[in-house]
Amino acid sequence: MGFDVSRFYGKVHDDIICPICFGVLENPYEVEPCGHIFCEKCIRRWIETPMFGPSTCPIDRNEISHNKVRPAPKFLYSYLKQMPTKCEFASEGCIVSVKLEDMAKHRALCPLNPSKPVQCHRGCGIRLPPKLLLHHKCTVDPCQEAMVWNEIIEDAKLAVRRRSYERYQRRSPLSVAVKSIWNVVNNWLADPRVHSNE
Ligand SMILES: [Zn+2]
Ligand SMILES: [Zn+2]
Ligand SMILES: [Zn+2]
Ligand SMILES: [Zn+2]
Repeated sequence: MGFDVSRFYGKVHDDIICPICFGVLENPYEVEPCGHIFCEKCIRRWIETPMFGPSTCPIDRNEISHNKVRPAPKFLYSYLKQMPTKCEFASEGCIVSVKLEDMAKHRALCPLNPSKPVQCHRGCGIRLPPKLLLHHKCTVDPCQEAMVWNEIIEDAKLAVRRRSYERYQRRSPLSVAVKSIWNVVNNWLADPRVHSNE
């Protein structure tokens, strides 16, 4: 099964869309001799469940079989790996953009992943997924109300923003320089002495 096109930025080129699942190609395999490209899983399933008689290419009806499929050219793999994608939890507020190859890694680490454990801030330090933390009866500070869902989400969003801002700064020292000049100018403009005529 390919990747949902909504996870990518802008219009996704037709050439990297699997004609079977209409997602962005996952592990692209090409069919011989026509060279049409599909996700490996999609084309294998297609071959295994022919509708009428022998399996044929979904595009041009050339007869195909498992030994007529092979991995697509390497450049396609490298191209796909580099594609920037949105985090699966973008709707929860994650603004991180990750390369397709790092999608799974980020998913596990994303602070907005509802199944990723969050630390109890009421003293005990236990780590639980946000949904469970909501109902956690803290032994250290039992008087305090449980954290509300919004608080957990807002904390996580803040962490994501801070982290991507730091990474951005590390990557582009030039923008840091621009930013510090910008701050100087802003401070200067905000200085009441600049505007007074005395
Ligand atoms: Zn597919
Ligand atoms: Zn074909
Ligand atoms: Zn994320
Ligand atoms: Zn606790």
